Amino acid sequence: MHQVKITDIRQETPTVKSFRLALPAPTFWFWPGQWVDLYIEEPTEGPNGIIGGFSITSSPLHRDYIELTIKRIPEGRASVYLHDRVGVGDQVIIDGGYGEFYFREGMGNRLVLIAGGIGITPLISIIRFVDESQLGVDLTLRSRDRNTARAALGEGLAVSALPRYVPV
Ligand SMILES: Cc1cc2nc3c(=O)[nH]c(=O)nc-3n(C[C@H](O)[C@H](O)[C@H](O)COP(=O)(O)OP(=O)(O)OC[C@H]3O[C@@H](n4cnc5c(N)ncnc54)[C@H](O)[C@@H]3O)c2cc1C
Repeated sequence: MHQVKITDIRQETPTVKSFRLALPAPTFWFWPGQWVDLYIEEPTEGPNGIIGGFSITSSPLHRDYIELTIKRIPEGRASVYLHDRVGVGDQVIIDGGYGEFYFREGMGNRLVLIAGGIGITPLISIIRFVDESQLGVDLTLRSRDRNTARAALGEGLAVSALPRYVPV
């Protein structure tokens, strides 16, 4: 468990926000593609327990922060709470990274990543990692929602990181 502070919130699209969480010490590690469980208080069985699992969208090469990119689901609980009630300076608790869907150096030289809508989030971390580590991996992104993809990728991603984009 890691208590972390929200240091930045970006509105990516009308319904998608990115949250930057500062990591106080380099004890948290994840592989690009994995997710975290997010709590608003110490985990309990009550209403303040776990509020959602969210894919990390930043690259693990940045050891001092992670980013989560979250779509507001009308009538939803976790996503509405994060969009409407959480601000810069607030603390949340994260646990992870979890999941078997991830990319590591040496797993392959040619990646075809396929996503629909906000499902692109784990792929963003993989794309950023491949770009920042200059692994020379051949990347193709096939995505259903170009606007979400482009917006969620943010301005921090070099255009060269996406040599081929195929709308599906
Ligand atoms: C591994 C993983 C990674 C994920 N990564 C991301 C990510 O990077 N970004 C992201 O935005 N999301 C991600 N998600 C989805 C996220 O975890 C939440 O499921 C999402 O944010 C919706 O949660 P919520 O609490 O806002 O909505 P919920 O409260 O779960 O509601 C969702 C919808 O279901 C309806 N609903 C709820 N309960 C019922 C019921 N009993 N009967 C009928 N309808 C009901 C609600 O009205 C609403 O429309 C991920 C999920 C997983 C499993």
